[in-house]
Amino acid sequence: MSHNIHTALTIPPPDRQKPSLKVNAFEASRTINSALTPLFPYISEGCIAPCASIMRGGSDALGGVFQHFNTVDEVAVVFASEGTGMRPGDVHVGDKSHVVGSFMQDDPNSYILIVVTQRQSEQGVKQQEAFTLNCAECQHVLLDRKFDAVENYAESTGVPGGYFGPLGTIMECGAGAQEFNANVELRTCDNCGTVNEPFNIGVWQWDNYMTNAWCVDQSLKSYFEFNGLTGKKRADQVSSEIK
Ligand SMILES: [Zn+2]
Repeated sequence: MSHNIHTALTIPPPDRQKPSLKVNAFEASRTINSALTPLFPYISEGCIAPCASIMRGGSDALGGVFQHFNTVDEVAVVFASEGTGMRPGDVHVGDKSHVVGSFMQDDPNSYILIVVTQRQSEQGVKQQEAFTLNCAECQHVLLDRKFDAVENYAESTGVPGGYFGPLGTIMECGAGAQEFNANVELRTCDNCGTVNEPFNIGVWQWDNYMTNAWCVDQSLKSYFEFNGLTGKKRADQVSSEIK
């Protein structure tokens, strides 16, 4: 039986809900508000999601060490770097479980622009992540927050299909950090008794992203409520309008 390779390898046309976009990582980095800000809105199941981080050194840029687990690979490409121990052009693929620490030093002339890309799991395949904080003294686990990385934004918010949600990695890691900082018992090590310092969210600026994401959720909900579209009805109605 002959096998038509051209048919087998046909790339489907772009999804109408994901029109082609392009972005320049340098230009976009002027306005990103957090480490790991997605450069494109497409972060749902099956999407290839490049996320940029731009950071400057200095005394405020230190700390914020955590452990991150992700069932999908994260490919990091360093676009520019000075005084960080990483070279422009470096490409890293971390272990599924990896320690993330500040790239920066106490030098305001140091900086980095790095893009981390991950391919989100396909529909029906769970993509799991975890944000873990360890005792600074003995490495005992103080907080271990596991989460599903890709949520269905329309289902979780009631906002119609066609909108993409915020990046789960930032939202969940940020929520874990806030939980840790608000609870001194959580920061007190069961093993050695050390009371750990609050986690430095400012290093990663997740709080900026979370604030904006919350405002956008509220804005979208009120926008659609204003237009008289509610609950599942509005999701169905708007998806059929998009088609
Ligand atoms: Zn300890």
